[in-house]
Amino acid sequence: MTESTENQFETGTVVYDPVSDTVGEYQGPAGPYALLRPLGGGREWEARPESLRPATPGERLSAAVRVANSRSFQGTPEPLSPAPVRDCAACADLAALRDDARARHDGSAETDADVLLRRHQRRYHAALLGLAQYALVPDVSAGAEYETSCTECRAGSGARQRPADVEEWQHAHTRDTGHARYRRTVADYAVLAAR
Ligand SMILES: [Zn+2]
Ligand SMILES: [Zn+2]
Repeated sequence: MTESTENQFETGTVVYDPVSDTVGEYQGPAGPYALLRPLGGGREWEARPESLRPATPGERLSAAVRVANSRSFQGTPEPLSPAPVRDCAACADLAALRDDARARHDGSAETDADVLLRRHQRRYHAALLGLAQYALVPDVSAGAEYETSCTECRAGSGARQRPADVEEWQHAHTRDTGHARYRRTVADYAVLAAR
């Protein structure tokens, strides 16, 4: 009996290779060597059969965890390019830079701009981005409100449902007092709704 036949394992047995300090799946003999395949696939390697032993449950587990981790890492899709935050000049600049790079098919410049944009947004728009999962929608249970107040005597119309009601109040107030300057406001109600 040669050493290589002495240490035969069934194909698929998970074995520990002390030389590479790696756990692998036994594939079969390859000349004087044993052919092992990394868990989770990849390039096979030749191990010295006499050094192999079945992997312990702990070794198998940590190898499986390593495979799962690398899978989830590789499987993470490239995050979408961040959208510029409205009314932010820095966002607009960086987004323009990125769009320009994309138009030129300059992938590395595009990535650079994306990285800068993300960094800027994490720094300046963190709170805002936290709200990105919500959409601002008008509150249909409450319509807009119109209100006016006299800037001379502070008398106010109170909240009204229609602009015409406010104008009517102004006419009456001017007629009664001679005051002619008003501060008008419109208010609407909004709801932050989860998308
Ligand atoms: Zn910004
Ligand atoms: Zn007045």
